[in-house]
Amino acid sequence: MYNTTEFKNIIASIRNKQDITKEQLEYILNYKDDPDYLYQKASEVAQRIYNKEVYLRGLIEFTNYCRNDCYYCGIRCSNFYADRYRMSKEDILACCKKGYELGFRTFVLQGGEDNYYNDDMICDIVRQIKQENPGCAVTLSIGEKSHESYLEYFNAGADRYLLRHETANKEHYEKLHPHTLSCDNRKKCLKDLKEIGYQVGCGIMVGTPHQTVENIYEDICFMKELKPHMIGIGPFIPHKDTPFANEPMGSVELTLKLLSILRLIFPDVLLPATTALGTADVSGREKGILAGANVLMPNLSPVDVRDKYLLYDGKICTGEESAECVECLKRRVENIGYHLSNSRGDHPDFCK
Ligand code: SAH
Repeated sequence: MYNTTEFKNIIASIRNKQDITKEQLEYILNYKDDPDYLYQKASEVAQRIYNKEVYLRGLIEFTNYCRNDCYYCGIRCSNFYADRYRMSKEDILACCKKGYELGFRTFVLQGGEDNYYNDDMICDIVRQIKQENPGCAVTLSIGEKSHESYLEYFNAGADRYLLRHETANKEHYEKLHPHTLSCDNRKKCLKDLKEIGYQVGCGIMVGTPHQTVENIYEDICFMKELKPHMIGIGPFIPHKDTPFANEPMGSVELTLKLLSILRLIFPDVLLPATTALGTADVSGREKGILAGANVLMPNLSPVDVRDKYLLYDGKICTGEESAECVECLKRRVENIGYHLSNSRGDHPDFCK
């Protein structure tokens, strides 16, 4: 029943219809032979739109304080072993300045949900980053906020917002999060962000405990409805001081197949080859690009805090300086015949 011809036919169908059925998803994910053909077709689609360019985002993990207690996450509030830190506005601006000199035109401010930074502080930081670094884009990734707060950040100049929905299935959501968090609110936040006018990123972890192919199908359906500009996916990797410490890691191959499927369904979406993928496999990020990803998000945080933003065990690049990371990525990308772009890398809908 599983054969190459059928595999190829399904891939052609997904690409032509920019849609997938649950049966097709099951077929692709359960297909045991070499998936290379899928990766090739997806990277062809990416190249048609983005050539062989890879966009860079400078990631600044500015706080690892978090009020939430997600079962998978190493910086959850009940992990008392986490060594907590917060970066000052000056430290954040210094990171951006260094990044700007290295050629970065997008800065992603990511953190736990840390109410120490109130809306005025976030707006002030966003404004100043935009002012000091002409032509740059600012992405926020600071979790669930009110419509009002999202609007304030947007008016202060924030261009994009990353908020992975984690899973679109309510029951599955509840197996990953305490009852203080809800799937409905997460989805509502994403709708608010879209409505305000951000370039919006959603996404999932691949291989979280209790995840089924059916859940992944629901994730794709949710994405089709939301029409995100970016989709961040990476394998789930356990963290030793969380309730999921003994759960198995998500599969790299499954992640790559999903990257390809997402590229076929959403031809122009911005799709990062994530740090988690690079952690799960030494050449994970290269493999991700060859499977259709077109974004890399190296860390720009100062070296003294890097090894503290540990969402999962074994995270790569926690000892390097930003400049070293860029050199390393440049080499890696060029080795597979791609090159780093020095543009802001907006979604095509936002390019003037
Ligand atoms: N507080 C922000 C940022 C969260 S960290 C927010 O709520 O959006 C960014 C992403 O890292 C999360 O959305 C989650 O998908 C991922 N992540 C967290 N723990 C992880 C783990 N153990 N393995 C892999 N990815 C993880």
